[in-house]
Amino acid sequence: MTVVAGPDLPDTQGHFGIYGGRFVPETLVHPLLELEAEYLKAQQDPEFLRELEYYLREFCGRPTPLYLAERLTRELGGARVYLKREDLLHTGAHKINNAMGQILLARRMGKQRIIAETGAGQHGVATATVAAMFGFECVIYMGAVDCERQALNVYRMKMLGAEVVPVRAGQQTLKEAVNEAMRDWVTNIRSTHYILGTAYGAHPYPVMVRNFQRIIGDEARRQVLKQERRLPDLLIACVGGGSNAIGLFYPFLDDASVKMLGVEAGGEGILPGKHAARFQGGSLGVLQGTRSYLLQDEHGQIQLTHSVSAGLDYAAVGPEHAWLRDLQRVEYDYATDDQAVDAFMRLGRIEGIIPALESAHAVAAAIERVPRMHPDQVVIVNLSGRGDKDVAQVAARLKLETPRSES
Ligand SMILES: *Cc1c(COP(=O)(O)O)cnc(C)c1O
Repeated sequence: MTVVAGPDLPDTQGHFGIYGGRFVPETLVHPLLELEAEYLKAQQDPEFLRELEYYLREFCGRPTPLYLAERLTRELGGARVYLKREDLLHTGAHKINNAMGQILLARRMGKQRIIAETGAGQHGVATATVAAMFGFECVIYMGAVDCERQALNVYRMKMLGAEVVPVRAGQQTLKEAVNEAMRDWVTNIRSTHYILGTAYGAHPYPVMVRNFQRIIGDEARRQVLKQERRLPDLLIACVGGGSNAIGLFYPFLDDASVKMLGVEAGGEGILPGKHAARFQGGSLGVLQGTRSYLLQDEHGQIQLTHSVSAGLDYAAVGPEHAWLRDLQRVEYDYATDDQAVDAFMRLGRIEGIIPALESAHAVAAAIERVPRMHPDQVVIVNLSGRGDKDVAQVAARLKLETPRSES
């Protein structure tokens, strides 16, 4: 049986099979219903779609190229490798696709204040950017640890006029930032829209974010059909919450010949507390509004996570991915910190492209798999973002020398 997975899900309650749904306090039920209703209307409104298309093109820089990585292809000696260049978007990652969609929705709903959580800071920067553009007040919640390892993005958000609130609870990373954002939202519900940054959380966020990100796959599908006159054999994307991956995968779900690989953060190896690969040792649970795969102990306590890339360092994965994995429509694997850093360096040296550490996980998986493929085959790797934000961190990790002035 070929499984036609996904295209008609979620159901009206936001379920992807046993995953998804809406697990929130009473006070958030009404705002989520209001958001869902407005989103459903907007999706049918040619004026909304025209405006979104306009800003994605004129402000964000869409469409992004589907670029044949010639030297990488030659070096790996297997399939032809194409890079979907989301790294070329304004603000440097795919996050702006979703932030732009949601700010236009917020404006329709008459909100004047925007809040968001951020891990690596890319979603915070994207949100601060669209808030500045439309003149909204903007508050970004960010774990204190992440503020430190992504200081550049903290400065960017501040320069864009956002207030950045460092969150010092718990592990001081993304999960705690989401908690704070939800607390703020409950308190300021009338004036405020919460721009959630990935295909996660209570319904309608997972489906809404997916639909704002599917432009990646819609473009890639058109581009590969034009450039190769055929569908790709394999799609590869990194999976944090899962928005860049589902954005690429979704428009290909009905194409049975197209295999898909999601790459999670293997950190320092698959041991408790050392990684963020939810499909390696995770289990079913509810966290921050939705039911999905989580890293938790036998008492349901959320485990510590680790990844060299802040954007993949989260204990849960988007519900649609859990569903697609159960259906065996998408395969999930992981890359370790070391593999990701190697891929980061290698892509810079042989293609002239420094990827985000998140995206480098997808590149690492390509480096591993492509040599076993046939030269007639075609692979698309989603380059979800660029690596500028990670340069200082990688330089320190590899102990690269800093230039010294003449003595
Ligand atoms: C945030 C981020 C990710 C992870 O988020 P997803 O929702 O899984 O896409 C991946 N790559 C980059 C560059 C990011 O900024």
